[in-house]
Amino acid sequence: MDDQQKIMDIMVDIYHDLPRQGPGSPDTTRKAFDLCGFDDAPQTILDIGCGTGTQTLTLAELTTGHVVGFDLLPDFINKFSSRINAQGLGNRVHAYVGDMNHLPVRQQSIDLVWAEGSAYSIGFENALKTWHPFLKQDGYIAVSEMVWTQANPPDEVTAFFAEEYPTMASVETRLQQVEESGYRIIENFIIPNSDWQAYYDPLEAKLPQMRDSYQGDDFASSLFDAFDVEIDMRRRFHAWYGYVFVVAQIV
Ligand code: SAH
Repeated sequence: MDDQQKIMDIMVDIYHDLPRQGPGSPDTTRKAFDLCGFDDAPQTILDIGCGTGTQTLTLAELTTGHVVGFDLLPDFINKFSSRINAQGLGNRVHAYVGDMNHLPVRQQSIDLVWAEGSAYSIGFENALKTWHPFLKQDGYIAVSEMVWTQANPPDEVTAFFAEEYPTMASVETRLQQVEESGYRIIENFIIPNSDWQAYYDPLEAKLPQMRDSYQGDDFASSLFDAFDVEIDMRRRFHAWYGYVFVVAQIV
């Protein structure tokens, strides 16, 4: 098994039963959805990089139309499918495995493209441009993305993200990229720190159990160490970076 596959397997092992795969909350999803200000209720929402579908299910509560969650990892989609079935939502909430570079949908067919903490996977700006043709005229996009929230962060956190996310940018840069990709910005906001806790607290609580089950595996153990460092960074440097949620409409 190559390293990349091993990383994916361990990630799935960690994340498949955690409430989220990135920072966020139902309140934040609701707030971003409301900002779209739909005149008519959206008939088709595509949640790209949906993970196990937590925010997809929140979107389903907010609408009566079709909501499709889409993710690269079959294990996440399987988990999401069982949640859909458990809630009896199978008639209008759907889960598909696929690559966000190649959306398997018709052009101009989506009212709302949603992507919480996932656009970065193919490059933020590239994602916005790649998804644009699939939106209906007047369609909306709502994306969240990690950003620097202040200029000139301390060396330690700068060095950390130079390794972990070298293209991390400021809010202003991301908003400009959204506009340059063919959208007009409706609103943007920084998600609250409690959304990070909703992500990191269960992750941190699970790490000891993961260390136990991968005992003697140095490769896995170095991944768990990296999570500890990441969580510690957030604790100490949260003033310097965050997640911006951008809501925009195509022009
Ligand atoms: N939206 C969820 C998950 C964010 S984590 C949440 O906020 O909790 C990012 C997700 O993007 C992961 O589930 C990952 O599997 C998915 N992903 C990464 N690259 C992808 C790709 N090329 N196509 C589809 N999904 C992808």
